[in-house]
Amino acid sequence: MDHDTMRCAPVAVSRCEDYDETLIEEVLESHFAAAGADESYFRGKRVVLKPNLVSAKKPEYAVTTHPAVVEAVYRLVKKSGAADVVLAESAGGPYSAAFMNRILDVTGMKDLSDRTGLRLNDDYSGVAIPFAEGKKLKNVEVLKPVAESDIIVNICKLKTHSLTGLSCATKNLFGVIPGVLKFEMHAAYPDPEEFCRMLVDLNLSLLQSHEVLNVCDAVVAMEGNGPTHGTPVPMGCIMTSKSAFALDVVAEHAACIEGMAKYLDIAAELGLVPREIDGVKVINCKTGQIVQKKLTPPDSKKMSFSMRVLTGMPNLFGGRFSRFFEPRPSVNRKKCIGCGNCARVCPEKTITMKKTKGKKLATIKRDRCIRCFCCQELCPHGAVDTVKNPLIKLIH
Ligand code: SF4
Ligand code: SF4
Repeated sequence: MDHDTMRCAPVAVSRCEDYDETLIEEVLESHFAAAGADESYFRGKRVVLKPNLVSAKKPEYAVTTHPAVVEAVYRLVKKSGAADVVLAESAGGPYSAAFMNRILDVTGMKDLSDRTGLRLNDDYSGVAIPFAEGKKLKNVEVLKPVAESDIIVNICKLKTHSLTGLSCATKNLFGVIPGVLKFEMHAAYPDPEEFCRMLVDLNLSLLQSHEVLNVCDAVVAMEGNGPTHGTPVPMGCIMTSKSAFALDVVAEHAACIEGMAKYLDIAAELGLVPREIDGVKVINCKTGQIVQKKLTPPDSKKMSFSMRVLTGMPNLFGGRFSRFFEPRPSVNRKKCIGCGNCARVCPEKTITMKKTKGKKLATIKRDRCIRCFCCQELCPHGAVDTVKNPLIKLIH
């Protein structure tokens, strides 16, 4: 897809209040037609379904894409005569059969596969895709079934996100990078803006070799400390677009968090998407319209006026000054059970396990922390809080 086509890509929006597979299938059928992905689009193609399965959480927690949405997509793609359909995802953790099988089981994908015959990926290798035009990424390794597909159906969940502000279509494609390589990417792009530039590059690199169709499950969205420790919020909406950026502009507007997704500023700077909702062509299908539901931002992005002034100070002391005032992760000693998961995933290796009063606890060495919030995302016990700088608290 060239940049001009991408900038003009419409976003189909429909009301959908619950996870009724038949209703969702009807909604998506109209969306696919509106987005330019009718039956002939899938015919004879190798299609990979890429849901958000970041963590082993049941669908009702709204951390992962609901199986009813994946099922509706699968039925439509099959009906359209796709040559092959496979579900592939790399969750937050090692990319191995044992780890992924648990995720697929808990998130309802295993049951979906048993009922419908949807094939689940069982090849845990990666394939490098060169991207000569990349500004940040010249080469990226992705899951083998993604590399080998013709069409990626990116079935994301609308959530707020501690690092990127928003987790929707653009961020969901970060999950095509296998396992711990994702943590290496965090280490390679420690500055949030650089990380967002990399995300934009990643999306573009996939688009150079694939068709990408984005479907957003916002029937129940998530607010607060996403992507894994937020609160489910019924939004009653499904969105579809061939442009992940356009879909995310609409999602940001629907969630009343306009301006929070830095990667959309970057995509807009590059002429890939209009930055404001008014510039995006929205097609209301099936009783559709954008109904706004205000989502609470993650603690890391709640910016008071004083904080905005302090963190906005331009690169004073090489940028360290503003970093000093930003919210940071902190281990909640009451909740931590010393499993060590955070220490294993921390890209900067700045977490150590220490015994305190006979109890093993995670301890974060603050000066090396890059505020990527991987520890918060992947702590299975919700034991990583976000804390504000005490000076900021004092000003309040
Ligand atoms: S992952 Fe959570 S519970 Fe496990 S050691 Fe880290 S903070 Fe504690
Ligand atoms: S301590 Fe947490 S936020 Fe800091 S670098 Fe490690 S994983 Fe990222």
